[in-house]
Amino acid sequence: MKFGGTSVADAEAISRMINIVESKLDKNPIIVVSAMAKVTDLLYQIADAAEQKDEATARALVSDLRNRHTTVINGLIPDGPEREKALEEVYRICHNLEVFVEAVCTLGELTPRSKATIISNGERLSSVVICYAMRQRGINVGFSDARKMIIVTGDKLKGEPDMEAIQELVPKKIALRTDAGYPVVITQGFIATTPEGDAAVLGRGGSDYTASLIGMAMNAETIEIWTDVDGVKTADPRRVANTHSIERIAFEEAAEMAHFGAKVLHPLTIAPAVEKNIPVKVLNSMNPTSPGTIILQSDQIEEGAKSISFKEKILMLNIFSPKMIDVSGFLQRVFQIFAKHNVSVDLISTSEANISITMDAGQDLTQVVEELSEFAEVRVFDDKSQVSIIGKNVANQRGLLRWALASLNNVTVYMISQGASSVNISFVVDRENLDEVLQEMHNILFEY
Ligand code: ADP
Ligand code: ASP
Ligand code: MG
Repeated sequence: MKFGGTSVADAEAISRMINIVESKLDKNPIIVVSAMAKVTDLLYQIADAAEQKDEATARALVSDLRNRHTTVINGLIPDGPEREKALEEVYRICHNLEVFVEAVCTLGELTPRSKATIISNGERLSSVVICYAMRQRGINVGFSDARKMIIVTGDKLKGEPDMEAIQELVPKKIALRTDAGYPVVITQGFIATTPEGDAAVLGRGGSDYTASLIGMAMNAETIEIWTDVDGVKTADPRRVANTHSIERIAFEEAAEMAHFGAKVLHPLTIAPAVEKNIPVKVLNSMNPTSPGTIILQSDQIEEGAKSISFKEKILMLNIFSPKMIDVSGFLQRVFQIFAKHNVSVDLISTSEANISITMDAGQDLTQVVEELSEFAEVRVFDDKSQVSIIGKNVANQRGLLRWALASLNNVTVYMISQGASSVNISFVVDRENLDEVLQEMHNILFEY
């Protein structure tokens, strides 16, 4: 059972999440918690301030962090030993953070390892608060540190799980607690360690991924992602009016939705569940009786459009070269450059002398553009958005494209990608038209 930031945002939310856990004690759940809402953002600000040697700001922000958690403890746990222990632990973690941040301020240099150390504190704090609150409520919960189970390699701010180590360590560490008589175990999402013992994290929104990694390693019956909406919806309810909850979707559909921008799940959450065929449920901690969404193997799911995803900020490159005409190996030359600079691309479309490519914004393309410019004309557009219709076999659904295009009547479409994946049709439009396109497309496909 994973509880996201809004599900543990304050005393009231935590109290609600404890009720939910209490109703499932017979299942011996493992609880994975995120940092309280906005706390990870605050920690990123602390890291930035430290890097800029702005000690006053960094200290003030650490103080905000401490106050936020002590306020929740005081509102949630009545006076007594659990409250004392929770406060003591929060003071200790915040004190250590302050000392660490001062050191970074002095050095004025923030390595990925230091940044990972700083941003790990949100989950460490929330897990402590929730653990003591659960104990005070009479739940015999054991505490297990995710950093001893989730081993990652590569980028310390977006680690790649070492599946073998995780499958070995998770059952061992959890058994240490269950064998000691704890029916429930709590741990943190997002945070991890490298094989060398350095701090690392799984990337923004990574707590979902932690939950599915643990679910996989434990051969869990179900992986429950508790969030702030009634399951996976036909579009992001924050951007589109009249969305509906989807009762059942396939692993492939959920993975594709997340990969193409739906923030409801971290894009890599589904893979570990698929590995062991474990159903993933997306549920609303603010409305626990709502059925939410169940994500299952594809053969149990009907075909058709399920949802609209979008990426608001993308980069689109248009590469023009007359040398491409009738020449083999041109695409290879182009993509070698992307590979060399570790830039991953999303959509591709080619014509006689042009290639259009989209990729996530925030990637540094300077060198890619420089090298491409040696043999082609390159234009970079940073004012585009990508909209995707996701659903099993949607690419082969007769008539769907006609409806989709009808919703794009009044806007310029720069790229269409259909057919490469049977679960996805994507369009590139101007960012200024995004809201209009999303709503119109949703009205046409899902207003019933
Ligand atoms: P948590 O903190 O629980 O991890 P997130 O904010 O990461 O929650 O994800 C939940 C949010 O995802 C919702 O509030 C919603 O705005 C957004 N979202 C985007 N696309 C969808 C979708 N298709 N269905 C449901 N929610 C979506
Ligand atoms: N706290 C982390 C974040 O905000 C991870 C998560 O909530 O999933 O990105
Ligand atoms: Mg999330």
